Amino acid sequence: MRIVLLGAPGAGKGTHCKRIADRYGVLHLSSGDILRRERAAGTELGRKAQGYMDAGALVPDELVGAVVAARLAEDEIRRRGCFLDGFPRTLVQARLFERLLAEAGLALDRVILMATDDVDRLIKRLTGRRVCGQCRAVCNLVYSPPRQPGRCDHCGGPLEQRGDDTEPTARERLRVYAEQTEPLVRFYEERGLLLRLDAAREGLELLSEVSLALGLS
Ligand code: ADP
Repeated sequence: MRIVLLGAPGAGKGTHCKRIADRYGVLHLSSGDILRRERAAGTELGRKAQGYMDAGALVPDELVGAVVAARLAEDEIRRRGCFLDGFPRTLVQARLFERLLAEAGLALDRVILMATDDVDRLIKRLTGRRVCGQCRAVCNLVYSPPRQPGRCDHCGGPLEQRGDDTEPTARERLRVYAEQTEPLVRFYEERGLLLRLDAAREGLELLSEVSLALGLS
């Protein structure tokens, strides 16, 4: 099973991908996480990606394309399938992805769009997001506040804000999404792959809707 999750920054792609992937034993592949790991490891790709990410811009297609293509070719991902979160994000990437799948004799099953036009809510979700520096669990100061301020509910580790979750950068990411990623909605609609879900729905409701649409139980 290969599913792409599409949606504005803050729409909840990561949270839902993780939930669905855990439940069905499918791998969750987040291009943002891959890039952040490359940065943390100080690789050449990480160093090149850094400036774009901090500014809320997209990392150039050829850099992201190469690293995602390498992951997609991995045995485990081919065998278990994956939920792609954050890739493709431009038409160039979508065409590259189509070509990679065709060459591997694989198909894309569905593209789930987490649709919302509530910009205020997206900004609140992004600026309120905190990530545990230890176990990487994600919480939100507004929507799922930690029991103890500044500490992760799961492991007690220190909560940190992602550098690109400040308000000006979050607004820039939303602008970039509208300009470069939204055209993918039409691209996948034309291929009959798009499933549009309301991103404002509650997590569990959304999960059962996704399961139903994918024929999973
Ligand atoms: P969000 O969806 O909340 O914006 P991500 O973690 O998916 O966050 O991405 C963080 C940043 O990583 C993006 O703003 C961008 O700079 C970079 N990035 C992630 N995926 C891609 C991609 N497919 N193409 C280009 N840049 C990407």
